[in-house]
Amino acid sequence: MRFSGSTALVTGAAGGIGEAIVTQLRAEGARVAVAARDVSGIEAEAHLPGDLLDPAYADGLAQAARDALGGLDILVNNAGVITRGPVTEASDADWSRSVGVNVEAPFRICRSAIPLMAETGGGAIVNVSSCWGGKAPGPNHALYCMTKAALSSLTQCMGIDHAHQGIRVNAVCPNEVNTPMLRSGFAKRGFDPDTAVSELGRTVPAGRIAEPEDIADVVLFLASDAARYMCGTLVEVNGGKPVS
Ligand code: NAD
Repeated sequence: MRFSGSTALVTGAAGGIGEAIVTQLRAEGARVAVAARDVSGIEAEAHLPGDLLDPAYADGLAQAARDALGGLDILVNNAGVITRGPVTEASDADWSRSVGVNVEAPFRICRSAIPLMAETGGGAIVNVSSCWGGKAPGPNHALYCMTKAALSSLTQCMGIDHAHQGIRVNAVCPNEVNTPMLRSGFAKRGFDPDTAVSELGRTVPAGRIAEPEDIADVVLFLASDAARYMCGTLVEVNGGKPVS
């Protein structure tokens, strides 16, 4: 029970990785506030539905979580959207949605969470970035890679700037994970998601792509006291598969 007595806010809680993070945090004793557009059916101590593209909602989330839980020790910025294709195929709406959910919302939530955490002696922030936002981008996902690189850079900057307040900011950078985000991409391209996931697994040295729990375990490690000396790091979780 590493998180007994701790309070946490998780965005994108309705998604594949988010659901695993919430389940594991609660299993280890944390009281969790869940944020997503639709949070009905998610077991948690507080439900904060809304659209992260709404600046007022993103600005108010950290305070709302603290009010609902009586504290805010852990923030996981997990929500994300993927836009596929090169820039020449990206619409204005793709740009706004990608920047809004993947960069602006974490910026707004961190900006308001950090002073709240500082008031109570510190906390841990874990951002869910991507291997394509770490060392190198991948092909044909220009907006996704650019926004994840921005989130990774923001993580490194905040990790440096707020360590002195006892606030540790780190990111996980997964490669492919078996979630609706990945599976919907296969379905859109006309592939059977189960077959595609299994074929993709053969390209990974570990023999399979990640399950959401593989990523949640590393998120919990970064949120825990075991990572007490880690600030501003980008942790690749890739089963040995290098970035393409
Ligand atoms: P998912 O699509 O299953 O979940 C995404 C979550 O984000 C959902 O809960 C969704 O409601 C939420 N969200 C999206 N737009 C929102 C908005 N406007 N307002 C509020 N909530 C919104 O995806 P996932 O695979 O679980 O992804 C979780 C994180 O992991 C994302 O940041 C993603 O970029 C990252 N990631 C995923 C993979 C992968 O292969 N699945 C790889 C690397 C990184």
